[in-house]
Amino acid sequence: MNRLPINPISKKPRAQIEHQCTALWHTCIFLTFKGRCAKCGKLHVENSVGGRLWDGHHVIGSRFKRFRWEIDCGVLLCRLPCHRWATDNPTSFLEWLESNRTEQFAWRQAQVMRADHIPIWMLRATLDELKGMETILRKKLVDRK
Ligand SMILES: [Zn+2]
Repeated sequence: MNRLPINPISKKPRAQIEHQCTALWHTCIFLTFKGRCAKCGKLHVENSVGGRLWDGHHVIGSRFKRFRWEIDCGVLLCRLPCHRWATDNPTSFLEWLESNRTEQFAWRQAQVMRADHIPIWMLRATLDELKGMETILRKKLVDRK
């Protein structure tokens, strides 16, 4: 007997799940910061014509996949100049983070010892969590209007 998979998402290849997680993560960072650049305060729209003008910047480098899709790991920055500045000046960025986003800096410092390996089951759970997070954040945004 053929059965539908209990969780269809589990059939997706790893790269596709990672791509979806990254897109959702950016959306969640945008919603968390209500579209405002944490560095300069500029207000952005979620989807601009010709592509977004903002980025979620990782306070722990995105090569560390364990943290790549955690909401605490992201700061909303203008793509230019703020994200460029953060990427080109990682030490200055961390000093800025410590002074301006104390709790997030403390979170970062507490995480750096965690291992980097992330199994596929955790990645799938992350995707589900991010979808739930996006729903919650969007609802909060609507409630404020
Ligand atoms: Zn900015």
